[in-house]
Amino acid sequence: MLQQTQVERVRAFFTRFTTRFPTVGALARAREADVLRLWEGLGYYRRARQLHEAARVVVARHDGAVPRSPTDLRALPGVGRYTAHAIASIAFGVRVPIIEANSRRVIARLVGHDRPVGGAAGDEPLWRIAETLLPSRDVSRFNQALMDLGAMICTPARPRCDACPLAASCVAHRTGRTGSIPVPTARPSVQRLRETAVVLRRDGRVLVTRRGAGEWWEGLWDFPRSVGHRAEDRRLGKVAYTVTRHRVTCTVVERPPQREELRPARGRRWVSPSALTALPLAAPARRIAALLGPRRGSRLRRAGGVPADPPVE
Ligand code: SF4
Repeated sequence: MLQQTQVERVRAFFTRFTTRFPTVGALARAREADVLRLWEGLGYYRRARQLHEAARVVVARHDGAVPRSPTDLRALPGVGRYTAHAIASIAFGVRVPIIEANSRRVIARLVGHDRPVGGAAGDEPLWRIAETLLPSRDVSRFNQALMDLGAMICTPARPRCDACPLAASCVAHRTGRTGSIPVPTARPSVQRLRETAVVLRRDGRVLVTRRGAGEWWEGLWDFPRSVGHRAEDRRLGKVAYTVTRHRVTCTVVERPPQREELRPARGRRWVSPSALTALPLAAPARRIAALLGPRRGSRLRRAGGVPADPPVE
């Protein structure tokens, strides 16, 4: 949960999640819809699906015990080099380094690494350097200390070098380059998109469709999208949200369903607005649901169900 999301935001989700799924086995046995529902509002839903899948693999291949070796850990869905090394070193004391946002900055400044960092290629030299810095014991504390140093002392802007235990050997500090190191990789530019979401009603129910494989919010339910508006459309409002590097403005309209939209199909459901609360919805859908009526909106808000633009991958 802490990948891409701050501790304060995660806290309540973590407690709810681990109360409902207190063991790897309990998570492995859960239905995906229940896992996603508990993750809703936290964003980056791929993490939830992969965590769920990883729990199943741990049960199937490792008898329900999380493996200790970085190689076995990296074979789990969603576990990359950083996560594998963090689990191995912090939970099991395995002697491997961690490169993440904070330790990356500390190490780049410490050695005066003035090449772009981030991504597999940019970070590779830092992984190698970090390995040479590891102590022979207490790696768990060392790795956590490096991350804490980056978070609290060696901050992105105005690092507190006067309070830093590494100041005497830090190249960036000595050469006055803390403002230019680390060198960031170029970020892709933000794209603006417009779309139309359609609320179709039949007998007091609304149509929701399941987001398909490879789509944003894969596996979650959402209102259908349409190309442009029609004359008979009734406009309900607008929602704006951010997804990866896209800023989306979504116009929400209501219209009567067409005959083909009434046919049953896989990945489509007609549900009463009150049932939407229990359904794992994509972030925009939760906000569109809040437009369906004042009572509906207030119920959702009281339930904490109208998240403000949580991110997705
Ligand atoms: S001396 Fe300054 S730049 Fe170097 S590691 Fe410490 S806080 Fe960071």
